[in-house]
Parts: sequence; structure tokens; C-alpha cells
Amino acid sequence: MNIFRHHRTVLALVILLAAGGLLFSLTARAAETDPLRVIVIDVRQGDATLVISPEGKTMLLDAGQMGTRHSRYDAGQDTIIPLMKSLGLDRVDVIVVTHPHADHIGGVPAIMEEFPVGVIYDSGYPHTVSAYERMLELAREREIPVKVPTAGDLIPFGDHVTVQVLGPTLPLERRSFMNINNQSIVTRVEYGNFSFINTGDAERELEGLMVSSGARLKSTVLNTGHHGSSTSTTPEFFAMVNPEVAVISAGKRNRFSHPDWEVMNRLRRAGTRVMRTDYHGHIIFTSDGETYEVASTPVIEDLTE
Ligand SMILES: [Zn+2]
Repeated sequence: MNIFRHHRTVLALVILLAAGGLLFSLTARAAETDPLRVIVIDVRQGDATLVISPEGKTMLLDAGQMGTRHSRYDAGQDTIIPLMKSLGLDRVDVIVVTHPHADHIGGVPAIMEEFPVGVIYDSGYPHTVSAYERMLELAREREIPVKVPTAGDLIPFGDHVTVQVLGPTLPLERRSFMNINNQSIVTRVEYGNFSFINTGDAERELEGLMVSSGARLKSTVLNTGHHGSSTSTTPEFFAMVNPEVAVISAGKRNRFSHPDWEVMNRLRRAGTRVMRTDYHGHIIFTSDGETYEVASTPVIEDLTE
């Protein structure tokens, strides 16, 4: 990644966060504590979201792709680590790997080598992608617990924020492992009136199971499943989540044609505000538990890249 552009992106993010903080301190309802921040990080084609709790705890929901011989871009090295450092963060309390596909787990080993990590939540899906094996190896070496959650579990994340697991809905021993995307760990982060649902690459099968589970799905923000692909965001699931903002994490002109036009139309018809990492860059939600603001870094990268 071009260093100059990269620095401008980080600078823009710092300015945005500072402005957000100022706004909050100026409002009459300013909280005693810092706000919750949810940053859907622009990691090109992939998924990575950083959650910072009011007390400063950090959680990563996926970490984008890793560098390969064909594509040197490594989301952990090139984007997430510099971004966390620019925010003064020096550890990751919780990592949730929704599922071990390269565009979600790829950046995890670099993060683990850079920062202390408290605990890892893993889908339990056995996979041979090198980042997955490296993650397990590092976890063993550093004695980091690796847990496999099931719907209904709560992920401890401080006193103010609730992180509920909504999927997979079946206990590990009863999962079929037919479709890795449908083993995605789905989480709902809640802070007062604000909530954010992260679905990984969950497809219609898992969405249907979550709808029929009766769990509370309604959320302020939906991180749209499978990068906005046609496999996901079924009308039933979308109606239950009924988000005010839908985020799509996808790479510019990606070869999968994400997001799907029909999904986009579904979001637009419902009047949902759509924010895309390929257009908006990093997308930052800031909430005091009553209201929220959304901001984004301008996409500085050359469109012809
Ligand atoms: Zn994916």
C-alpha cells in the first residue's frame, strides 16, 4: 500500500475520532465514560471490525485477508495494526473469528504476533488454511484460550457492553459442517439503545435458523452477511434485524461482484442507509448508549488502482 495514502487515511481517521469525541463532550447528554466505538475497517475484499468499549476494552470481529505471493496486501500488517497503534491501543481483549476463510482469518496471526490477546472465539470448523493453523499454534504457545461458542452464549466484554452469540444455533457435536459459511459465529453487540449485528458469511440456512430461534435480532446496524452476496440477507432475516444502517464490507471492483444488486435493492427499498467500505473507507459508529453518530474516512486510494 502506498505509504503516503496510508498515512493520510490514518490521519483522517484520527481527526474523525477526535471530532466525534468533541461532539460527544459538547452534548448535554455526554456520558460519564467514553463512548462505544465500532469501526468497520476497510480491508479491501474481506471483513474486519474493531469494537472499543467505553472502558477501553478491544474486540476484533475478523481480521481480513493475509498477504500471498499473488496479492501482497495483508490486512493485519497493512491496515489493522497501524490503525490500532494510531488509536493508542496495545492489546486485543477478544478476537472472534467468524469462520476460517482466508478473507476473515488471514490477518489474525499478524495481530497475535504484534499484540497480547486475551481470548479467541473460533467456529470449531476444522480447516487447513495456513492462517488457521498458525493461529492455533500461536494460541498454544502463548496459552491463549480458544473457545467455540454456541447461540445463547455471552462473550464477556466489560461491564457496559453485552455481546451475545446468535449463531451457530446447534451445539458443536450436532453441526454438519456441510457449509463453512453457515458455521459463522454471529454476534450482536449491544450498548444501551445501540446495537450492531455481525454475521460473518452466514447464508440463508443460518439466517433462517436464527429467525426461528426467537432470539432478538433487531439491531441499529447490520454488517451485511457475506459481503452483500446473494446467498445472504434474506427478506425474513432482514425484516427481523430491521437496521437503520447496513454496512457492506467489500473490495473495490472485487471479482465476486459483491454486493449483489438484488440485496442492494432490498436494503434501499426498506429505506436503510447503506455504507460500503469500498466507497466510504473505514466506517465508524460512535454511541453514548442513547444516540449514535456514523462517520467514515474518505476513500483516498486512486480509483484506477
Ligand atoms: Zn468472506
